Amino acid sequence: MVEINHATKVVVLTGAGISAESGIKTFRAADGLWENHAIEDVATPHAWKKNPELVWNFYQGRRNQLTEVEPNPAHKSLVTLEEFLGDNFLLVTQNVDDLHSRAGSNNLIHMHGELRILRCEQCHETFDMMQQEHLTADYVACPNCANQRLRPHIVWFHEMPFQLPEIYAAVEECDIFMTVGTSGHVYPAAGLIDVAKQAGALCVGVNLDEPMNYGMHDEFHQGKAGELLPNLVDEWVS
Ligand code: NAD
Ligand code: ZN
Repeated sequence: MVEINHATKVVVLTGAGISAESGIKTFRAADGLWENHAIEDVATPHAWKKNPELVWNFYQGRRNQLTEVEPNPAHKSLVTLEEFLGDNFLLVTQNVDDLHSRAGSNNLIHMHGELRILRCEQCHETFDMMQQEHLTADYVACPNCANQRLRPHIVWFHEMPFQLPEIYAAVEECDIFMTVGTSGHVYPAAGLIDVAKQAGALCVGVNLDEPMNYGMHDEFHQGKAGELLPNLVDEWVS
């Protein structure tokens, strides 16, 4: 049974399922394909080296889609929870869309990067690049150096997720750890629940079907995040 007050420390880990009701396809739910591409063809450093055009076009498609989708009630309910808990709340997302930030979440870590952002592999600068001319370009040149081809600021398979020390520190300290819309296949994100459990946190899950790490949850709510999460959050903060 979840009981929270303003001092309760809560970490929420979200995955592709929370954005499904906004119209963004999940990844493993179907058949291991992401928008009709095998993941190793578009989401590895090797793919970027071997076939940059395919990888670029794939992420340009994902970036363009951001202009057509809106946050749903599940994203918004996490803003309500953050407003109640303040700095005792941390949202860690595996999603590369911008729906959490557009809903209004502030204490937010994009552990797998962000579609909005491009990165220079030469000077290591990052740039928020969502203007129309960047969304239709063949490649985007670095505004800072001679590099003609910025890469997506995305953590590809075989790369290290961002801000892991901060994430582990918050998970080790939290009272409640919640997973929303994540299949529990992708590590290290899928292992955060083990860390939370060891630290004594209550682990709560919301997902359409049972995730791989289902057994680690103390409380599990099966169904759509957009329908279940707003009610749960309302109960907790009232
Ligand atoms: P996943 O696709 O592996 O799993 C999604 C989970 O969400 C599934 O278990 C599914 O049952 C559940 N789900 C589907 N619709 C739901 C709904 N309406 N409400 C609640 N749950 C729902 O996603 P993952 O665990 O995040 O791992 C996929 C990887 O692919 C991530 O690393 C992510 O970076 C990337 N990805 C991101 C996006 C995005 O940014 N929106 C989309 C696809 C993939
Ligand atoms: Zn540069």
